[in-house]
Amino acid sequence: MQKKIIIFIAVFLFFLNIICWREVFVLSENKLLKVDFLDVGQGDSVFIQTPENHQILIDGGPDSSLLRKLSVVMPFWDRTFDLVVLSHPESDHMQGLLEALQSYKADYILWSGVKKVNSPEYDKWISILDKQQKMGAKILIAQAGQEIKAGNVLIETLYPFESLEGKEMKKTSNDSCVVAKLIYGKDSFLFVGDISSVAEKELADSKENIKSEVLKVAHHGSKYSTSDLFLENVRPEVAVISVGAKNTYGHPTLEVLQRLEKSGIKMFRTDKDGDIMFVSDGNKIIKFQ
Ligand SMILES: [Zn+2]
Repeated sequence: MQKKIIIFIAVFLFFLNIICWREVFVLSENKLLKVDFLDVGQGDSVFIQTPENHQILIDGGPDSSLLRKLSVVMPFWDRTFDLVVLSHPESDHMQGLLEALQSYKADYILWSGVKKVNSPEYDKWISILDKQQKMGAKILIAQAGQEIKAGNVLIETLYPFESLEGKEMKKTSNDSCVVAKLIYGKDSFLFVGDISSVAEKELADSKENIKSEVLKVAHHGSKYSTSDLFLENVRPEVAVISVGAKNTYGHPTLEVLQRLEKSGIKMFRTDKDGDIMFVSDGNKIIKFQ
């Protein structure tokens, strides 16, 4: 009888062992990059989680809705971003960051360093940078050729070609936007902020490799961006438009929707689809439902 019990326990432990190893195997296989285009209304905000669990935030949208989104995508005890990117200091990209960086810390902050006068929002951004720096954040000024490594994920700065630090922006800072490419294995995502077709042409004519599987459409679908030339060079399979259901700009414009359709590019938009998450294993990108 005792022998039977011992055999039973041995068999039980043997199978438990197999189950445990299977779990370990499955977990270690689960090296996924998650790119979440947050529905923050008329603005941009993208939350990225790398396979090594680095957290990257690109832009913060126009208001405090980012804080609500962050409380879902980040655990409540985690108050640190590895990297925050501000594409350009305009309200619809910056306001949410101003709010989030009051209670969250960033290890690195990447931005263009442009100057804006008579803008209380901009002044607030500068004071937040100062505060974050005192808490240990490193401030990086964007310039093409720069590379940031987050484990196996690479963030390449493609634009501006030269540092714009201290340069004064008169009207709009759209063409001073930081353009960055996120690369994981064979997959890549292109973030272009609000650049116009002028900057798009400069990028298409440059030596920068702008080919990417997923394109964040520039300037919420404005007709002055997302030119045919740019699309021919990026050759994305998927395009994401970050846009508010109610906006007075007529975004996204019919012109851009038609250009994307004509090029056979699959399209998602935050005003219709809500938060849009993509998952990549480095070989293939799938849209997470
Ligand atoms: Zn914008």
